[in-house]
Amino acid sequence: MVTWASVVPDIDGLGIIVDWATRGMGKPTDFWGEYHHTLAHNIGFALLVTIVATVLARQKALTAVLVFFSFHLHLLGDLVGARGPDGDHWPIPYLRPFSNALQLEWAGQWALNAWPNIVLTGVLILIALVLARRRSYSPVELFSRKADEVLVRTLRSRFPVKEEHSRSCP
Ligand SMILES: [Zn+2]
Repeated sequence: MVTWASVVPDIDGLGIIVDWATRGMGKPTDFWGEYHHTLAHNIGFALLVTIVATVLARQKALTAVLVFFSFHLHLLGDLVGARGPDGDHWPIPYLRPFSNALQLEWAGQWALNAWPNIVLTGVLILIALVLARRRSYSPVELFSRKADEVLVRTLRSRFPVKEEHSRSCP
C-alpha cells in the first residue's frame, strides 16, 4: 500500500487514454490536460488514500504515516522534476478540494526528461535490484508475483546471496 501510494496520484492522468481514443473524432477530449496534476495531486486525495490504506492495513498507524509520506514524496518529485515540454511548471493545487488558494510550484524545476531524473531513475532501479536480491521481493510484485519471483530467482542465480539475508526463510 505504501508503494501504491507513491504512484496513485498519477491516476488523474488516465484520461489520456480517452483523449487518444477520441483524437480522430469530431470533439476530441482533453481530460489529461484538464485533470492531470489536479484531481489526485492534492491534500484531499492524500487523506482519502491514507484513510483507505489505514482501514485495509493490519499495522494501521505505521501504514497511515508511511502512505501519507509516500504520497507526498510523489508530489515532491513532481514539484522538483516534472516540467512539461512546453516549459509549464505544472502547479500543484495542494489544498484542493478545500481551496484553490495554494498552487505549489518551484522556479528551479527541471524537465521530466532532464538528466537528474535519468540519473535518479538509474540509481533507484539499481537500489531496488540490490534490495530485491537481498529481500526476495521487488516492486515488480505490485503487478505480478510470478514475474517478481522470476526476477528474484534470476538475480539470485546471477549474484548468489547468503541465506541469513534471505527473507524467504521461515
Ligand atoms: Zn504526479
